[in-house]
Amino acid sequence: MTLTPRTKKRFIAGAICPRCSEMDKLMMYRENEKDFRECVSCGFHDEMRFKQNTRELDTRVNVVEEQVAEETQVLILDPNVSSNKH
Ligand SMILES: [Zn+2]
Repeated sequence: MTLTPRTKKRFIAGAICPRCSEMDKLMMYRENEKDFRECVSCGFHDEMRFKQNTRELDTRVNVVEEQVAEETQVLILDPNVSSNKH
């Protein structure tokens, strides 16, 4: 696998892997203008396709999709976040 610096991966808070059912193991990243999710626990990965009818669904997935659209940089694992606030 090749990791490019331009590809940022972020954990999806509260997301459950459809394969191994582990919570908070899914990361999402953007590639070729498409959103993918990847499980760090079992290696599961697929394309995230929920851009349709998401406004009618009040789910965690909807929240994640909106964060991507706004390109909000919420890096949960970034140690600089906590240090900047303090
Ligand atoms: Zn998994």
